[in-house]
Amino acid sequence: MFNERTSCPGCEFGESISLFRAAYADAVMGQFLRRKFKNPAAILDTLGDAVYELRKCGRCSLIYQRYVLNDEYSAVLYDKWLLEGDAEPELSKEWLPPSDHVLYANELLSVGRFFGRPHHRIRILDYGLGTGWWCRMGTALGFEALGTDLASNLVASARERGIPAIEVAQLASERFDFINTEQVLEHVTQPLDVLRRLRGALKPNGVIKVSVPDGRGIESRIPVVDWTAPRADKRYLMEATPLIHINTFTQDSIRVMGSRAGLKVASVPLRDDYSVLDATGAKALLKSLLRPLYRRAKRTTYVFLQAGE
Ligand SMILES: [Zn+2]
Repeated sequence: MFNERTSCPGCEFGESISLFRAAYADAVMGQFLRRKFKNPAAILDTLGDAVYELRKCGRCSLIYQRYVLNDEYSAVLYDKWLLEGDAEPELSKEWLPPSDHVLYANELLSVGRFFGRPHHRIRILDYGLGTGWWCRMGTALGFEALGTDLASNLVASARERGIPAIEVAQLASERFDFINTEQVLEHVTQPLDVLRRLRGALKPNGVIKVSVPDGRGIESRIPVVDWTAPRADKRYLMEATPLIHINTFTQDSIRVMGSRAGLKVASVPLRDDYSVLDATGAKALLKSLLRPLYRRAKRTTYVFLQAGE
């Protein structure tokens, strides 16, 4: 049920070092299984003598889990184990808080400004459309917005709700100006392969947005790992959760992966990130004002990767 990743899934380099290794049957991993799943004993039974191992690439510094579930069991993880247990928040957005609508609107308006064309002449794709909120905002703002997802039930359900959605297999014959990957590449077995496929679906000068959990500084937290700690605590390795966040990126590893796929990091003018400010409260306003500055100053894992002419 596991595949072993023998080279870096971000840059294909063969040399890496082991940062952490423990069997799922070990006490420390039991903490995670009990925390994350409603039926940890049954899941441990299925995992058998499998091992959680974090490796770090010798070239791009991507941290990745060496053993990952194969396609069949990935589907079991996302369609059954997580849905019946403590699902990752990004997987179950039945409704969206107003603050997230503000974020999506601001992001999409900055995409429009980046291309400097009327929205109806910009074709955008949400790769991993989930319940389709980003797509709907794109449509509302006048873009030609489509969504797709590896899970065909999500594509079908989007269509039922009137959201234009295509199957991933159709990507080869489609071209987009902007492809959104929001909290996607940390979950997939071969992120570079996915990026290359998406690169093939870009128009000249098209952009792929990569947004993933920020793994900066995680190495120093591995020795104090405690899966019972609160989600925001440094001892809870949210960026490297077993079986789920199988790739832990930094901006550097995204940049190297992008270059392997023929893409370059693009910078967005700061003013374009201030199309919409959330002034509904002091805290919301402060966040709205600081987020674009923080992303630039801290070199976070929110990156626009652009194709050439
Ligand atoms: Zn690498």
